[in-house]
Amino acid sequence: MPKTTLHLPVIQNWSCHNCGGCCREHLIEVTADEKQRIERQRWSSADGVPSDRPLIVRHGNDAWRLNHQQDGACVFLDDKGLCRIHGKFGEAAKPLACRVYPYAVHPVSSSLTVSLRFSCPSVVQNLGQPVHEQKWLNQLSEEIVSGKRTQLAPPALYGGQQLDWEDLLKFVAVIDASLVHSSTDDVTFAVRLMRVLSWLELVEESRFDTVRGKRLDDYLDLVTRAARKAQPDNDLPVLKPSRMGRLIFRLIVAQLLRHDTAQTVSAGLRARAGLFRTGVKFTLGKGTVPQLPEPPSVVTAFRDGKAPNQQRISFADLERPFEGRTPEIDELMTRYFRVKIQGMHFCGVANFNMSLVDGFRSLALMYPAVLWVARMKSAAAGRETLAIPDVQSALATLDHNFAYSPALGTKSGTDRIRILGRMQQVTRLCGWYSL
Ligand code: SF4
Repeated sequence: MPKTTLHLPVIQNWSCHNCGGCCREHLIEVTADEKQRIERQRWSSADGVPSDRPLIVRHGNDAWRLNHQQDGACVFLDDKGLCRIHGKFGEAAKPLACRVYPYAVHPVSSSLTVSLRFSCPSVVQNLGQPVHEQKWLNQLSEEIVSGKRTQLAPPALYGGQQLDWEDLLKFVAVIDASLVHSSTDDVTFAVRLMRVLSWLELVEESRFDTVRGKRLDDYLDLVTRAARKAQPDNDLPVLKPSRMGRLIFRLIVAQLLRHDTAQTVSAGLRARAGLFRTGVKFTLGKGTVPQLPEPPSVVTAFRDGKAPNQQRISFADLERPFEGRTPEIDELMTRYFRVKIQGMHFCGVANFNMSLVDGFRSLALMYPAVLWVARMKSAAAGRETLAIPDVQSALATLDHNFAYSPALGTKSGTDRIRILGRMQQVTRLCGWYSL
């Protein structure tokens, strides 16, 4: 009998399709207990694991991770793309990180909520069994929280404004509901998103010390109505983001695009200098856009296994309209946002302790970031409009890092979100790159 209530998203499907991407493209941290357990399994070259390297290596000063083979795959991945630990000792013998992925479990008041990582191509494509039918997640979540404190303080609403869980979750529910497409309010995802960003600006100017309970419901009803009235249809004046807004945005995209794998982490000085040059090019935003290879799982899932021929494109090419507001793209982005919001994967402990408002802005920036990277892919393939595989592959690539890349959680990383919010550039970026 599970002790903790688990909230599962009802809009998302997933089953593993054995692409092996997670075993090739992620660094798997293991706890001291897991390290001991794997050592007790007594692996040798007779089992097919590499004999020229340790199976577990240090990760930073006080952590451990599974080592990788020459081609970047986990030392336990076999030639058929299957896990040797799973094959020999069963699923439960694997490190917890492997068993949980692509799920992410977060505390909400006295219960838990589940989000998914869209770095998994099957999540992006919504393939497999409905997540809310996967009752085995209850057992897994018990293991995840075992012995840990789940009743954490709620994230701040913004700055120093703290609410209790009940009132904070009212904001979460209203944001989620505001992003749902409705036939009686037939506007694109870009407009729905921009409306939320606009009423959150009002929230930041309000104090909620006495606005609680029913008064808070009335307040939320008022601001959401005002946002709908201000943006009643798709016919919006879209304002170009400022030069500074676009510069900070490109820096965030560069961080989201960086794909740290075992190979890049152990890359030599030359490779690191290449990463630095790419960062400088993104900062300047002039000349040709550096060509960045797609992760192998993305190439397999969205390019039929063939990396496309790439034309050289310039940063200026990415500023023209690419028609990003199609129903297919809107469906994908709506599902992505709702899974992250319902799974509390955008603020608090799940996203570098950001407040709800800052965390939502960091999530909102994923929309223009994904469309900007999709523009790169479309333009490089000689297309004038966005194709859905370009958007899917951009989302799978960038969500690998969203809320996970340590660079996004540094002070300068979180300051960038705050600065863009203060400059009212997040809304502009969402409108501009959705065209
Ligand atoms: S331990 Fe198994 S499941 Fe985990 S990354 Fe390695 S091969 Fe994949």
